[in-house]
Amino acid sequence: MFGAIIALIMRSTQSLPCRNASTGDPALLAEADQCVKCGLCAPHCPTYGLLQNEADSPRGRIALIQGLLQGAIENSPGNRQALDRCLMCGNCEQHCPSGVRFTRLLDDFRARSYSRSVSIAGLLRYLLVSRRLLRRLFALWSLSRKTGLAAFLQASWPAHQRVAKILAFLPAQPAGKIKTIPLTSAKKTLSLFSGCLSPDMEPRLINSSMRVLSALGWQVEVPSAQGCCGAMHQHAGDQRQAQQLLQINAAAFSSKQPIVALSTACSAQLQSGFQAMHDTHQAVDILQFLQQQDLTRVDWRADEQTLLIHTPCSLRNALAEPDLIHKVLACLPNSRLLSLPDNERCCGAAGSYMLEQPALADALLQPKLDALALELRQQPVILVTANIGCRLHFVAGLRARGIEVPVCHPLDVLAAALPIEEAISPIPCLPKRGTG
Ligand code: SF4
Ligand code: SF4
Repeated sequence: MFGAIIALIMRSTQSLPCRNASTGDPALLAEADQCVKCGLCAPHCPTYGLLQNEADSPRGRIALIQGLLQGAIENSPGNRQALDRCLMCGNCEQHCPSGVRFTRLLDDFRARSYSRSVSIAGLLRYLLVSRRLLRRLFALWSLSRKTGLAAFLQASWPAHQRVAKILAFLPAQPAGKIKTIPLTSAKKTLSLFSGCLSPDMEPRLINSSMRVLSALGWQVEVPSAQGCCGAMHQHAGDQRQAQQLLQINAAAFSSKQPIVALSTACSAQLQSGFQAMHDTHQAVDILQFLQQQDLTRVDWRADEQTLLIHTPCSLRNALAEPDLIHKVLACLPNSRLLSLPDNERCCGAAGSYMLEQPALADALLQPKLDALALELRQQPVILVTANIGCRLHFVAGLRARGIEVPVCHPLDVLAAALPIEEAISPIPCLPKRGTG
């Protein structure tokens, strides 16, 4: 069976000649050997669905890892291509009767063969480590928009239009310092993990979260020494950097109060990272946190609206909470909650995947945009998703189609539904194309 799968993969990847077998990494091989090659995972794998290629299925990827570890397949970029095309969405793990922890297996395999390379995603990972540098770049981008340089760059840099589109999502003004809302009646304090991109790309979300948490009686601290969660570094194989970032965050946050994270991918990374380090910090996603609160203590406004919900893979698989957005937003009277069709399929954002595999990322997004456009013919909708990468990917895709739809985090929806004196302004629509 294994030989037949390898032969199939070699044909589909047009691989280079094999090297002699070698012993590889026994622990990693033992993990890969848990796979009995039943193929039950394949129908649930988005890349297999798209490419119909054994190498791009979970089973094919595991066989590739085994072949590479044993030296039966040459470790060339061409042979590793199917591994690079994995979204790390974790869908396969949900349907595997043998309990293969595929994303961990691929993380560990990538760590074993990790080498720094020059790429847009590599540059992004480098920038995420330095908040100060990132902020300066954001400020520079805001300035270039005022002078017209941004429009020139976008027009003259067609190969990287995706990056330009994402940059266009930045607010016109650099974000100011995060202000804590004083709340004298608050008895309890929590720490907010804002993530490395949200403070500049979505300053509104931090404001929304603080208002909602304050309305629920919480004093919110936002430690300034916090860093990136390290998820992108972890999944790219740079485990050393991911570990360093976890240690920076462990030092920045108190272990005596909950750490509440704003993005599901960050929440999953902090939870699994602290657990692996045997660290006592308790990280929780803001939706998980809200589920534990008494949401009925707020007199939510009863505006009629239709919320079209996209479930990020990190929420569905890594945090194992597929219905959490629905559960939390169910507190809103008169809101109609709809699921985006085919919600169990990744949208293609997948961290830096949308930059590294733009054609596949786009192909995965298109059916979701089609479904959204269809729904829009019936009624106005607000697209809601709990991960920043998904939001940016949807925004880029919607802009490309010229569709104007608000795309926001559930906390933005809640903040807009607070009683009038506490609410923040209604959720804005995306800026028109060309205005950035
Ligand atoms: S993690 Fe997702 S894309 Fe990767 S093999 Fe599993 S189902 Fe397929
Ligand atoms: S379902 Fe599990 S055991 Fe079966 S092929 Fe997929 S990864 Fe292997």
